[in-house]
Amino acid sequence: MNKKVAIIGSGPAGLTAGIYTSRASLDTTIFTGMQIGGQLTTTTEVENFPGFVDGIMGPELMANIQAQAEKFGAKMVIKEVKKIEKSEQGFLVDGDYFDAVIVASGASAKYLGLEGEKEWIGKGYHTCATCDGFFYRGKTVAVVGGGDSAMEEANFLTKFADKVYLIHRRAEFRASKIMIERTKNNPKVEILTPFGVTKFFGEKRIEKIELTNAENGQKSELKVDGLFVSIGHTPNSQPVKELLETDESGYLSTPSNTTMSKIEGLFIAGDVTDKIYRQAITSAGNGARAGIDCERWLESK
Ligand code: NAP
Repeated sequence: MNKKVAIIGSGPAGLTAGIYTSRASLDTTIFTGMQIGGQLTTTTEVENFPGFVDGIMGPELMANIQAQAEKFGAKMVIKEVKKIEKSEQGFLVDGDYFDAVIVASGASAKYLGLEGEKEWIGKGYHTCATCDGFFYRGKTVAVVGGGDSAMEEANFLTKFADKVYLIHRRAEFRASKIMIERTKNNPKVEILTPFGVTKFFGEKRIEKIELTNAENGQKSELKVDGLFVSIGHTPNSQPVKELLETDESGYLSTPSNTTMSKIEGLFIAGDVTDKIYRQAITSAGNGARAGIDCERWLESK
């Protein structure tokens, strides 16, 4: 009987790990989460993944990697795994035992942390411009954040919206130079700093937001039809929280020369263990390492 491997997550790390394990004839099940392809299915053009001279759309890239894993026999199960248990029979995932598990569960969008914030979701409050930008043709929207994601979302939204405000809490940006320049040069984008979004107003949908100046506390209001919050992500380490320790931000870690955690047979890959690079290509590379480490470990048993 082939050894059984469960992979948690279907971003670049999980799917690439799946290519390696299924190609090594391991019985591979990928628990995809509710969004097959992970975060990249919510991005637009990926310009820095090697091999695509003219770039490739995020959803297309992920569909290709998924098809490649399936070609070698990896099975996709659309399910969010909440808990992984370890016993003498192996790792228990979704009612079934596996010989090894690769956790590549990625990270989820962060919220601002305002009271009642989530009640505005679907009423003008969004965390994904690629998913929802289309609804704002000819409208005014705001993006919150100062990283590459916020810049990318602000530029993308100008394809639909007439006016895009980029609101950031500091005058300095975390984003790369090229993305800052692109945003500053976009005539439809107006950058507002140093401001926090502190309240939402509206009858059925967001109509106005309150801005608070981070330096002098002064409050003002801004009319917008929609708000896109793009302030980073939280690692999805919950499935192994009873098995492994995380750092203060929730990231998992492994020794530098392996993707195997301190629990034998439990491997970690992708954004759930990477707070520095977080790129599709580094994630895919990390997934490949986990697939190889997993195969070699099972072979050695
Ligand atoms: P990020 O780099 O961590 O930036 C998050 C931004 O949100 C920061 O400007 C931060 O402000 C702000 N922020 C965080 N919490 C906030 C809060 N509660 N209220 C208001 N603002 C808040 O996250 P990211 O932009 O999602 O990027 C993540 C990684 O993916 C990065 O390594 C990035 O380079 C990469 N990425 C790459 C591409 C690309 O290559 N095309 C595209 C997107 C993302 P402070 O700076 O003040 O902390």
